[in-house]
Amino acid sequence: MKLNIFQFLDKSPSAFHAAANACQMLQDAGYEQLDETSHWQLKSGKGYFVTRNQSSVVAFQYHGKTTGGFRLVTGHTDSPAPKLKLAGASFSNGSVRVPIQIYGGDIHTSWQDRPLGVAGRIAFLDAKKQAKTALVNINRPVAVIPNLAIHLNHGVNNGLALNPQSQMAALFAGKSVDDLVAELAKAAKQKIDTILDAELFLYDIQPATVVGLDNSLISSPRLDNLTSCHAAVCGLIAAKPAKGITPVIFLADNEEIGSRTPQGANSTYLHTVMDRITLAAKGTQEDTYRAMAASAMLSIDSAHAVHPNFADKHDSAYAPKMNQGIVVKHNADFKYATTSETASRFRALCMKHGIKLQDFVNRSDMPCGSTIGPTCSAELGVPGLDIGSALWAMHSCREIGGLKDHDDLIKAANAFLSE
Ligand code: ZN
Repeated sequence: MKLNIFQFLDKSPSAFHAAANACQMLQDAGYEQLDETSHWQLKSGKGYFVTRNQSSVVAFQYHGKTTGGFRLVTGHTDSPAPKLKLAGASFSNGSVRVPIQIYGGDIHTSWQDRPLGVAGRIAFLDAKKQAKTALVNINRPVAVIPNLAIHLNHGVNNGLALNPQSQMAALFAGKSVDDLVAELAKAAKQKIDTILDAELFLYDIQPATVVGLDNSLISSPRLDNLTSCHAAVCGLIAAKPAKGITPVIFLADNEEIGSRTPQGANSTYLHTVMDRITLAAKGTQEDTYRAMAASAMLSIDSAHAVHPNFADKHDSAYAPKMNQGIVVKHNADFKYATTSETASRFRALCMKHGIKLQDFVNRSDMPCGSTIGPTCSAELGVPGLDIGSALWAMHSCREIGGLKDHDDLIKAANAFLSE
């Protein structure tokens, strides 16, 4: 199964589904799944992947000795979204009302008046009373978070601050909370005795779509950061690494909430997998250090395209436009991993492959976002840089990006993993 970016976005309404689809693409390309609890016997010339929490993936090609270093591409599987507080569900004023908490830094109002589905993971007791988990995707519009009518909120156009506890509960049309539980059980496709717990997120049911007079843009949920995950997987599958180089991709969960989880970037996960690749090649501790020292990392995460209605939010000298090149991100305080050296190496690589670049530095009077780039770079001691494709409306329920930029991202990931 080779998913294009539209299919990958539509089939990945949660980090769990993004990881599952990445694994499926790798498996269909001949990659084999490894278990962290097993002994790893790797065959040269073969690809492998390993997951944590069903929501993050490390994948690599194994070519024996690692002393030529790793080429590492990273992205993140998670996106901001309302997460259901299922135990608080009630039948209220004619609707099944389910309170939410916000995962990550979303734009609250972007969730209003949209047909919403539900996706994530449930934990349950099966018919034999065994505790199990299953991914679920209620892939049809079952919920809404409606606006309050302007007649009841005359000041709405002066700015709307929604209270996530009291004013953003999801409303499901139905007769009782049991209807929702039954729908979840059906979506899990399992024999369920009791649902014990759940990690369920609302998502925009409308598929990714092409936008523009020239069809050059894509409007979709979760462009941040499934575009990077998709580019990393496609780049790795097509990678033909130079002798001695080990290409690795890391699709991390929990970037949006600080990465400090076992499956996040601020964990032992990636480092452990890279150590184990060297050990599988019968390498010594010295070989591990040498491999790390010869490595390079490319952190891919979405960038801000200049917004024509808010152009003064960018420094005009660093104002990326969609479809005019991949964005290289720089920050004096190392919110991005980029240095002049890592950026210039990447620039040379992109020139060789005919990939255009733009640069981003945020306005000096505004705070800067960050990525997993600096975390992975510091944790591994590997020099890195931050790049990404430019978006409008980052962290909205739907974001807008450039289609050509995505093709360039795949090309860049592939080149980086190969050379
Ligand atoms: Zn991101």
